[in-house]
Amino acid sequence: MKDRLGREIDYMRISITDRCNLRCGYCMPECGVPSVPHDMILRFDEIVRLVKIFCSMGIKNVKITGGEPLVRKGAVSLIKDIKAMGGIEKVSMTTNGILLSENLKALAEAGVDSINISLDTLDRQKYLNITGFDGLDTVLKAIDECRAFPEIKVKINAVTLADYNRNEICALADFAAEAGATLRFIEMMPLGLGTGFGGYNQDEIMTVLEEAYGPAKTIKEKVGSGPAKYYSFEGLEGRIGFISPMSHKFCGSCNRIRLTSEGLLRPCLGSDVGIDLRKPVREGASDEELASIICEGIMNKPAGHCFEATDSLMSKIGG
Ligand code: SAM
Ligand code: SF4
Repeated sequence: MKDRLGREIDYMRISITDRCNLRCGYCMPECGVPSVPHDMILRFDEIVRLVKIFCSMGIKNVKITGGEPLVRKGAVSLIKDIKAMGGIEKVSMTTNGILLSENLKALAEAGVDSINISLDTLDRQKYLNITGFDGLDTVLKAIDECRAFPEIKVKINAVTLADYNRNEICALADFAAEAGATLRFIEMMPLGLGTGFGGYNQDEIMTVLEEAYGPAKTIKEKVGSGPAKYYSFEGLEGRIGFISPMSHKFCGSCNRIRLTSEGLLRPCLGSDVGIDLRKPVREGASDEELASIICEGIMNKPAGHCFEATDSLMSKIGG
C-alpha cells in the first residue's frame, strides 16, 4: 500500500527479541536491556498472523532482526512458516553471526533468501572492544561456511566507526570480495547509544575506495529491497553498498515499516511513534480491524527521520 506521501510500503523488519549475546557499544547498554516479561513479547503464531495481514496489504519482503534474532528459540521455524504462507517474496535475517554456524543448515532448509551479517572490523581486539566479546573468529568461520549455501545471498554490514574502522575500508572491501559477499557501509545514526559515537560518511569512504580501486560506477539495476545504493569499481570484485541516512537521506523513497518484539508498529526508525498491535491481537480483533489499525499507522508514516528527537534503543527496534 501507499502512505499519504505516495511511498509504496512493501518491506517490513520484524524484531523478534530485544536481547542480544553481544554488547556493541553504539547499540546495546553494557548491562543489557531491562528484561521484558515473556508474555509482553509477541508469540510466533501472533507474528505469523500479523505477517499474513501485512502481506495482504502489500508487504513483499520481510527481514527478521533483533536484538540478536538467533538467540530466540524457534527463529528458524518462524522463517519457515513465513516462507510457507506464500505471498512474501523474500525472507531474510540480519544477525551478528555468533550463532550462525550452528543454524546455517536449518536456515537454508527453511528457505531463507539472504542473510546480513554485521561485521565492523577484521581486527580481533577491536571486535572485542566494539562488541564486548572475543567472537571475531566465530563470525569469520560462519561467513566462510555460507559458501556451502550459494542459494543464500550474503551481505556484510559494517557501521562506520571513526575510531575503529576508518582505516579498514579497503580491508573490509577485499575481505567481502574474497568471501563472495556484498559489503555495505552503514552510516552511524545518532540514535540511542549511537549518539556517543563518531562516524564518517559515504563521501569519505568513496574517496578511499576510488583511490584504491578506480572510479566508482553506479549500479543502476535494483539490488535488494532496501535503501542501499550500490557501486562497482574496476579494481574490485563484486559491489559495495551504502546505507547513508545521514549524508544521503532517503526518506522520500522509504519503503519500510517495523514491528518490534513487543508488538509495536513503528512506521519510521527515526521517530518514537509506535502503534500497539499486541493489545488488539490479544483482545480478539478481527483481521479487518487489525488491517485498519495498520493502514492508519502506515498512512501517518513520518515524512522524514528525526533521530535527535528519538530516545529508542536500536536494539529494541532492530535497525
Ligand atoms: N543483532 C543483529 C545484528 O547486529 O546484525 C541485528 C540487530 S542490529 C540492531 C541491526 C543493525 O543495526 C546492525 O547491522 C547494527 O550494526 C546496526 N546498528 C545498530 N546501532 C546502529 C546505529 N546507531 N547506527 C547505525 N547502525 C546501527
Ligand atoms: Fe546486538 Fe546487533 Fe546491537 Fe550488536 S548491533 S548489540 S549484535 S543487536
